[in-house]
Amino acid sequence: MGNAFNLGKLFGIQFRLHYTWFIIFVLVTVSLVYPDWSSPLYWAMGIVTSLLFFTSILAHELAHSLVGRANNIPIKSITLFVFGGVAQMTREARSAGAELKMAVAGPACSLVISSLFYLVFLFTKDAVAPVADMAFWLFIINAALAAFNLIPGFPLDGGRVFRSILWQVTGNYKRSTRIATRVGQGVGYSFILGGILIVFLHPFGLDWFSGLWLVFIGWFLENAASASYRQAQWRGALQGFTASQVMTSDYPVVPLSITVSQLVQGYIFTSGRGCFLVADEDGVRGILTLPNIKSVSQPNWGVTQVREIMTPVDKLKIAHPDQDALSILEQMDESSINQMPVVSGGRVIGLITRDNLIRLLRTRAELGI
Ligand SMILES: [Zn+2]
Repeated sequence: MGNAFNLGKLFGIQFRLHYTWFIIFVLVTVSLVYPDWSSPLYWAMGIVTSLLFFTSILAHELAHSLVGRANNIPIKSITLFVFGGVAQMTREARSAGAELKMAVAGPACSLVISSLFYLVFLFTKDAVAPVADMAFWLFIINAALAAFNLIPGFPLDGGRVFRSILWQVTGNYKRSTRIATRVGQGVGYSFILGGILIVFLHPFGLDWFSGLWLVFIGWFLENAASASYRQAQWRGALQGFTASQVMTSDYPVVPLSITVSQLVQGYIFTSGRGCFLVADEDGVRGILTLPNIKSVSQPNWGVTQVREIMTPVDKLKIAHPDQDALSILEQMDESSINQMPVVSGGRVIGLITRDNLIRLLRTRAELGI
């Protein structure tokens, strides 16, 4: 996901901010300063409110992540968008119950925050008008955030709730995902259609700007639903395959003691491959990939042996022959690696690379199976 920059880590989760956020920050601040441009008080309140709005969304996403993690769904990073965040999970929930809890946590958190701001509003409305205004705005916006996210279109929270219920009832994860993502696409198209109607017909006194907003949100939702649908199909295609079925046994093996130049000239130039197993007579000792080679400066290629720069076997993630292919892809995502040796009885019997898996998926998609 491009167009975002790193904010830092919170509870071990990488948070990223999408650039569209700056537009929102400015819009929110300006709309709050609108009554009185010359007042420093309004500017200060506008900026503080925008920051609190941002914190509210962060809390919503954090609620999802922490409940997810407690239910064994690790979250790698979260990107904050205009109307919420997108979590990058390295694996989907294993049970309908876990999915339901994680999906509900975000909107529940927003509702709690909304109520707290309502209390602040009640306590300050007769005494400190600017604070009361700010609290009221945050009460409304957090309630709206909860409501919007509960729309039952996947991948919104409501769509996940919907899927978990379907999943619980039918016991069929794939079909539930298919239905929930189709509903998500339907919600997206309805938003676009509604937006177009508003632009041309102005019902309820709504202006063309609100219509465009609705079209934009609908377009975003439709895209997200389609992407989730494709991803679910991919994952489905890997299910039922084991490591020994998707591994390649035709992998290049190089001796421990050759130098990097010998490797580059004797193996890489001729085969074009970028991943080698390093072995001696007792078996495989490590794995060597292009990043390992790039860690050595070119003048030293002649004096550096591959054993010095390879990733040794005991540091490698390894797969078992009967491990399922989907869990291997998840493990690769979690540790950001592109290949895993398959080990049986202490011996390497094959190699699985991300390219292998993707090629398998493409072939299956092309054959329509
Ligand atoms: Zn959410």
